Amino acid sequence: MPASAPITQDVVTIARKLPETDRINLVGLTRPQLREALIAGGTPENKAKMRVDQIWQWIYQKGVREFDAMTNLGKTYRAELAERFTIEIPEVVSRQVSADGTRKYLVRIAGGHEVETVYIPEADRGTLCISSQVGCTLTCSFCHTGTQKLVRNLTAGEIVGQVMLARDDLGEWPEPGRNPKDETRLISNVVLMGMGEPLYNFESVRDAMRIVMDGEGISLSRRRITLSTSGIVPEIARTAEEIGCMLAVSFHATTDEVRDKLVPINRKYKIAELLDALRAYPKLSNSERITFEYVMLKDVNDTDADARRLVKLIQGIPAKINLIPFNEWPGAPYERSDWERIESFADIIYKAGYASPIRTPRGEDIMAACGQLKSATDRARKTRAEIAAEAGLNT
Ligand code: SAH
Ligand code: SF4
Repeated sequence: MPASAPITQDVVTIARKLPETDRINLVGLTRPQLREALIAGGTPENKAKMRVDQIWQWIYQKGVREFDAMTNLGKTYRAELAERFTIEIPEVVSRQVSADGTRKYLVRIAGGHEVETVYIPEADRGTLCISSQVGCTLTCSFCHTGTQKLVRNLTAGEIVGQVMLARDDLGEWPEPGRNPKDETRLISNVVLMGMGEPLYNFESVRDAMRIVMDGEGISLSRRRITLSTSGIVPEIARTAEEIGCMLAVSFHATTDEVRDKLVPINRKYKIAELLDALRAYPKLSNSERITFEYVMLKDVNDTDADARRLVKLIQGIPAKINLIPFNEWPGAPYERSDWERIESFADIIYKAGYASPIRTPRGEDIMAACGQLKSATDRARKTRAEIAAEAGLNT
């Protein structure tokens, strides 16, 4: 029976004989996609909305993975669902817990590929850092992930699945009817700052974040989701319009000459063009301010003159500047700026009226800090020469 044949009751019976792998995973489907899948699987159209609501709540509000546990659905219907669909999230291969409480999960996705997800508990929040790609097409010269070729984009299910597996591990599926306030949650914030460039996997990231924000599910406010981009200018307005989350930008340099080397996508989208897109973002997304991430690299981008240039460049943009002391990784071509240098840099920015927190490296002992993530899926390694060539180093 071809998969595209019209679905009738008979087809549903035949569909029961489909091998396991042909069952459709419901995790990551948007509400309209879930509705379509249910109807195609035999759910009557006039009941589809109610079924979507019920199943959605079981999956995303209660964390249920078995249709049989969905007690407000009839027994026969549950069995039919189980034969046609699955509720699957990626598998945790290993979990490391740092001395500072940071947890790093090595996560296996279909095809045997691996990504990393990091949970960072702090006094006033718990942040989950999730990945959007296996590897990265870009080659920022200070980033460990950038040494790994892009293997593939994650699906929406694999992206939202990282939030779900962390909730499993932290035991954070609320009691029925008790949805905790954002600020008391273990996972109170989600940042797209793991492996990959989220704006090169736009649709899946968007769909996954819409699921995370959905009020009938995980229900995290859009203000508690931050997407970090290296500066894919054409996708920035779309991020405001279609996701509406907070935006962070990996700025890292104050001249095109230096940024071209650190963040090679700058050769395509220059600083001035990037700043124009950022200037428009807060209004388009109705969010307060942009986070500028700035990695502190010794003798590369860390002078007082850089700090002053930075302040001048971002004039008029509501901003916070997050200074990230460089996190080292084996073979990295840079060193972390000295502490006094970082403080002096921070001071200039602070005096210009911007918050300038210095990001304390977390989970360094388990290589979970910013830019240290790189899956053990090492088959597709970029060569040192490729990285150097793209970054314009040694040339
Ligand atoms: N690809 C996206 C998101 C992932 S990187 C982006 O580039 O924005 C998350 C942040 O960590 C980025 O600001 C990135 O520039 C920074 N980063 C990468 N490698 C780092 C390192 N070794 N030390 C400190 N920060 C790093
Ligand atoms: Fe990719 Fe971001 Fe790393 Fe650059 S910093 S290589 S965009 S993951």
